[in-house]
Amino acid sequence: MRRAIIACAAGLLILAGAPAAAQLAKSDEGGVKVRSPSLMRKLVPAEKLEQVAAEQYGQLRAQATSRNALVAADDPVAKRVGRIAQDLMAFTGKWNARAKDWRWDITIIKTPTINALCMPGGKIAVFTGIIDTLKLTDDELAVVLGHEMAHALREHARARAAKVTLTNVGALAIGLVIGGNVGELVRQGGGLLALKFNRDDERDADLVGLELAARAGYNPQAGLTLWEKMTQAAKNTPPTWLSTHPSGEDRKRRTLEALPQVMPLYERAKANKAPAAAAN
Ligand SMILES: [Zn+2]
Repeated sequence: MRRAIIACAAGLLILAGAPAAAQLAKSDEGGVKVRSPSLMRKLVPAEKLEQVAAEQYGQLRAQATSRNALVAADDPVAKRVGRIAQDLMAFTGKWNARAKDWRWDITIIKTPTINALCMPGGKIAVFTGIIDTLKLTDDELAVVLGHEMAHALREHARARAAKVTLTNVGALAIGLVIGGNVGELVRQGGGLLALKFNRDDERDADLVGLELAARAGYNPQAGLTLWEKMTQAAKNTPPTWLSTHPSGEDRKRRTLEALPQVMPLYERAKANKAPAAAAN
């Protein structure tokens, strides 16, 4: 089913300027507190997982292209998502030292499905249904993108793949991973497009996402309205996004708790932005 949804989708933006933007990052001080990444993830080489992700991302794009569902890079929606994502990318270095070398991509998929994802290595897909149905503001879109980017930055998929090794495949599979068969391992784990993270991963992604949005000058209070809209949408048709994410009530509470840590970052970003905007 998930494959079918993905198949009716998509468009690509190549953000070649993203690595340079990382150098613009302000002080990493302040912000949210999250867990250290799982040491278990080291069983799966990051480079290989990113390679598998790039392959699966390519398949997603090919399926979307064949169904005429790619949103063109010069479409206003693609430009809007690209601009917000690029703003957030400038602040990813704090959360993953390798991210500055990632070749971030964004695929916009034309479909009513309410979903968004970011695969290892910075391959982002946004379904137009999440923007249109929820009528997302820029601030809310920044919170969604921040959340998905945080999963990739904190290498949650890498840790998941390693856990699949130990629980489903058995100790012998560690040899497979070390031997390089990450693609097979990921397939056994259900693929990178349909990953379901655990509650701790979701909590960390929420917090890191709010911080990314705030540092980039997007109001993290938008998390409150975003989760409310998601809850309302779920009353009609459960959004795909909710099938892999916990309930809106938990997230609203978590957003409220995080605001004292992230609002000062947002206020600072706004203050820094204002003079530049005036100069233009
Ligand atoms: Zn998530």
